[in-house]
Amino acid sequence: MSTERRRAQVGDVVVLRKAHPCGSDRWEVLRIGADFRLRCQGCGRLVMLPRSKVERRIRKIESAADQEEDREVR
Ligand SMILES: [Zn+2]
Repeated sequence: MSTERRRAQVGDVVVLRKAHPCGSDRWEVLRIGADFRLRCQGCGRLVMLPRSKVERRIRKIESAADQEEDREVR
C-alpha cells in the first residue's frame, strides 16, 4: 500500500518533518497554489511555504474526509 504519494488537499492536516518553533509539526492546509498556506495546529500561526518545499517535507497526511487511508500508527 503506498499512501505516501497522496496529495494534500485543502482541509487536510499534514504532518511535516519540520516542526514549528512552538513544538507542533501538524499543519492545516488552507490554500494550495504555487505556495501552500498553512495554519499551525499548535499556535494558530499562518505561514506560506513554496509548494515544492512542503511536498518534500510531508510525512503524513491526515485527511478530514477519509480517515481510513491514513492509518500509520507508530
Ligand atoms: Zn506553531
